[in-house]
Amino acid sequence: MLPENVQWYFPSTLREASKLIQKEGIILHAGGTRILKTQTKSIKGLVEISGLGLNYIKNNKNKISIGAGSTFADVVAYNRATKQLPMLAKALHQAASTPLRNRITIGGSLKDFPLWSSLYAPLLALNAKVKVTGEAVGIYSIEDYVTKNIIKKNHIVKEIIIKEEPGLIADIKRFSLIKFEYPLFTIAAAFKVKNFIVQNARFYITGVKSRFKRFKRAESIFINKQITSELIENSIKFINPKFPSDYKYSSDYKETVSKVNFNDLLTELRKKVV
Ligand SMILES: Cc1cc2nc3c(=O)[nH]c(=O)nc-3n(C[C@H](O)[C@H](O)[C@H](O)COP(=O)(O)OP(=O)(O)OC[C@H]3O[C@@H](n4cnc5c(N)ncnc54)[C@H](O)[C@@H]3O)c2cc1C
Repeated sequence: MLPENVQWYFPSTLREASKLIQKEGIILHAGGTRILKTQTKSIKGLVEISGLGLNYIKNNKNKISIGAGSTFADVVAYNRATKQLPMLAKALHQAASTPLRNRITIGGSLKDFPLWSSLYAPLLALNAKVKVTGEAVGIYSIEDYVTKNIIKKNHIVKEIIIKEEPGLIADIKRFSLIKFEYPLFTIAAAFKVKNFIVQNARFYITGVKSRFKRFKRAESIFINKQITSELIENSIKFINPKFPSDYKYSSDYKETVSKVNFNDLLTELRKKVV
């Protein structure tokens, strides 16, 4: 429950919204799926983002911009209409439930970055960027957004930018034992391939202690080579994520299952190349 005296604000400009959230206890409200669950006590004011014109997805010369107010369902619908963003749409379609996907926004999810995020692994593997304004202003890689602590500043996520890469073969896997349960982890892998030869690779996992992890050593095994089952086997040796234990699953269990999932994912991607 929100405190009774919470003040709601309905700005129509980013400048106005940005000014409001610099005050203590005043935060943005997007889908509200996180705020209403966990952040209620310290809230003095909520700034509704729906009037800020951030609900759009557009493709300009193979650069796709997803406004922060777009919901997970909007991204899935965009993919159905255009066939673009297949990996991201697959990941977001598997998240939560239909009513929740109609509410959860890209901006709220990026700022929130829960352990069970369905958004981060595909965005990282797609080399996406995020445009922000407020206490931090600019365009950052998703990695920098987290590691350089932009995420902790009083900022507004305006949009995600994804450059379409020709020859990119990419997919995700979400692991949960029961379908409607928070995923224990999400993995994403992307290969940039030309004439069957890997030019670039990006492997990421979320749900781990360090929030996300990239496996550069495992990726490097494929560079300038064709993907083979031997290379996949070799690369899995360098997939070594460290998980938090929880009341249901040990960290060792999660690590073992994540290796199996990586092996399956890379094998599936190999079949798409050949
Ligand atoms: C039962 C359940 C299951 C779920 N399962 C999944 C799942 O499988 N995968 C998954 O990815 N997510 C899942 N979620 C969603 C996730 O836990 C968060 O609730 C969600 O990501 C928050 O997004 P929101 O748009 O509702 O943000 P809000 O709750 O509105 O806001 C969250 C935070 O982001 C800030 N914020 C909002 N918009 C912006 C913006 N544009 N710029 C900067 N800051 C902003 C807010 O001030 C707040 O601090 C689930 C949620 C529930 C309730």
